Amino acid sequence: MTRAQEIETNLTTVRDRIERACAAAGRDPREVTLVVVTKYFPAADVRALADLGVTDVGENRHQEAEAKAAECADLGLRWHFIGGLQSNKAAAVAAYADVVESVDRAKLVSGLQRGAHDRARPLDCLLQVSLDPPGAEGRSGADPADLDALASLVEQQGMLCLRGLMAVAPLGADPALAFARLAEVRREFVATWPQATVLSAGMSADLEPAVEAGATHVRIGSAVLGPRPPAG
Ligand SMILES: *Cc1c(COP(=O)(O)O)cnc(C)c1O
Repeated sequence: MTRAQEIETNLTTVRDRIERACAAAGRDPREVTLVVVTKYFPAADVRALADLGVTDVGENRHQEAEAKAAECADLGLRWHFIGGLQSNKAAAVAAYADVVESVDRAKLVSGLQRGAHDRARPLDCLLQVSLDPPGAEGRSGADPADLDALASLVEQQGMLCLRGLMAVAPLGADPALAFARLAEVRREFVATWPQATVLSAGMSADLEPAVEAGATHVRIGSAVLGPRPPAG
């Protein structure tokens, strides 16, 4: 099997999983966008994905993402930045990202605004919400209680579009329970921010409970592209 065939086979399986999860949840599969997470994988794989109809790709490390987005600029893909972001890199990420999914603190906002302003194109933002208990080790994402203040700040900027929320199920926890809590957080959030309807949740191991909980975007890496080196 060639690499392109391997990717095609995996992609078919993942699209099938999404369809079944939607059917089980009584949802229209067109409501769920597949974002293929291409971190650690070469631009050639991104090209193969585009050939297979993938429209959205995700990256979590700035330098790698910047280089790959430049190499694949002709493909017309939507680039999602999904990783932990240093505030001094925020403007640079906004230069190539179409969506930044990991907006989790106020310190990132001015850099994102500056980057979006410099490229003269609005930037879609998702607020990353933490589903870990407060004070948990290695926690990333904003506390649910801080989302409204962060959303206000994003909306005040002018070049940032608040689109919704993103979350990762905590390691070792039952993803169905975590995503049920996320659905509750989202319900409250959307009551205040009705334009922020995107919910990015679900990875290779837990896309089904994420779809069940209302995800509009699933971020799938290894189930499409194969295993990564550890700590990816
Ligand atoms: C790497 C990554 C993914 C994809 O993970 P898989 O388990 O390979 O599907 C999704 N979301 C985030 C934030 C990631 O860093």
